[in-house]
Amino acid sequence: MTPDEGFSGATVLRCPHCEAESRERIPADACVVLHDCSACGREIRPEEGDCCVFCSYGAHPCPSAVDRGR
Ligand SMILES: [Zn+2]
Repeated sequence: MTPDEGFSGATVLRCPHCEAESRERIPADACVVLHDCSACGREIRPEEGDCCVFCSYGAHPCPSAVDRGR
């Protein structure tokens, strides 16, 4: 029940195309539906049903998904 259990707003995002992992910041109040991979340059989009790329490919779901699951 701690609102802030070490979540810094940063996560590791894994590219579904080339599997490169990069550290990215998650915006606290926005969903990232399009991200360009810094390794292969391709577009990363969320899987169907996920609200943002972090929910699909990040190490943590985005804050708004955590909010909804509560
Ligand atoms: Zn990539």
